[in-house]
Amino acid sequence: SRRERNIASQVKNRLPQRMIDLLKEAGELADQLGCEAYAVGGFVRDILLGRPNLDLDLVVEGDGIDFAKKFASRVGGRVKAHSKFKTAVVILDDDQRVDVATARLEYYEYPAALPTVELSSIKMDLYRRDFTVNALALRINPGRYGQLVDFFGAERDIRNKTIRVLHSLSFVEDPTRILRAIRFERRFDFQIGGQTMRLIKNALSLKLFSKLSGTRVMHELQLIMNEEDPLSCMLRMQELGIMEAIHPLLKLTQERIQILTELVKVHNWYKLLYLEPKIVPWKLYILGMTAGVKRDQTTQVTKRLHFTPKEEREFLQLRDMIGEALMKLMGWKEGKSKLSRLYSILHPIPVEGILFLMARSRKEYIRRNISQYLARLRSMAVDVNGKDLMDMGIKPGPVFGQILDKLMVAKIDGRVETREDQLKLAKRLNKELSEDPADTTEA
Ligand code: ATP
Repeated sequence: SRRERNIASQVKNRLPQRMIDLLKEAGELADQLGCEAYAVGGFVRDILLGRPNLDLDLVVEGDGIDFAKKFASRVGGRVKAHSKFKTAVVILDDDQRVDVATARLEYYEYPAALPTVELSSIKMDLYRRDFTVNALALRINPGRYGQLVDFFGAERDIRNKTIRVLHSLSFVEDPTRILRAIRFERRFDFQIGGQTMRLIKNALSLKLFSKLSGTRVMHELQLIMNEEDPLSCMLRMQELGIMEAIHPLLKLTQERIQILTELVKVHNWYKLLYLEPKIVPWKLYILGMTAGVKRDQTTQVTKRLHFTPKEEREFLQLRDMIGEALMKLMGWKEGKSKLSRLYSILHPIPVEGILFLMARSRKEYIRRNISQYLARLRSMAVDVNGKDLMDMGIKPGPVFGQILDKLMVAKIDGRVETREDQLKLAKRLNKELSEDPADTTEA
């Protein structure tokens, strides 16, 4: 019937051999089981865009769970099945994940005398998706391997760099798609299509956002904050009035935009250095989005976004720690104050909070020293351990911790560079501490 373009050569050029082998294995298995299988969604979209994407989603016109089990035993892996949704995840031995979904045949009863039509199930599966660019399927059965199934003009929209919904009730059905539209638009540097934009504005004027659960909003916000350029998504949200639609306190003021701009910079700097621990982007950016909100009002936002009690507690704590640290940092003077003082100010604070402090510090030397802290001091350790202390005849107990803390301070301030110096200092500290156990002055 319709002409399907074959993109096998693009598939070959743009994916690692391992992935191609998996596609072919899955296709052969589908043939053996007498069903059709497809790669779908973002995976196919990104082949056409020439962007790396190894998140393989398969749709099977048949029994997806059975398919997943047989696929796993064929290529080596385990299966997590969700029988309720007829989906499964195959986790291969090299940790590659393959999601498998089932496309069901659906029959549409037309009123009056018209016959019942059976719609191709892959078509129905694709029709439920958010945007045309995500509603592509790639055939993988051997006979038709590489053929692109494009019912909704996705290729044209990719060529024209357009985000377009599949039907006019899309945002009414699921308003989180508004946030998804913005996210894909900004990520690919596309434009939301004219009609689609009218549908977004219509959905917003119907206040559909206020009915959305905090969990769902938060999930999409988190995806936005994991993007390369979260700020441009947030600016687009503000332009459309979505920030206030989520919660009036979230209006993106000029001051917040300025803070978020700095946060993106420090976040990129941190990512570039591959520093550990990995940061959780939303913990950083929510700080920026709520900058200036009073403490007791902050919970209005965390409640709206349906933070768990633990997340809420930790978030409030983080804000408090930042406030306290900002005060202390004002008294810290380069050249005059000890580096170990900076260490003790920053050390209790989770890394998201430290990046926020870095972004918020106006003095260049504070920023520079915080960056030094993250790059070097934070992960520094003394070269002496508990066993060394025992070997010196010191009995394990609270004194261990005191000695190690003081060694750390001395090392940070550059007083004991070598292990030998640290052992010597440990001996002296032990003597001092055992002579006067109540002494808690700094080493
Ligand atoms: P990403 O590159 O961000 O992973 P993706 O397109 O793979 O993008 P996922 O969030 O992993 O996106 O979703 C997988 C597929 O499921 C998408 O391609 C999309 O078609 C579909 N999908 C996800 N969320 C929705 C939604 N709210 N409404 C309709 N379809 C959705």
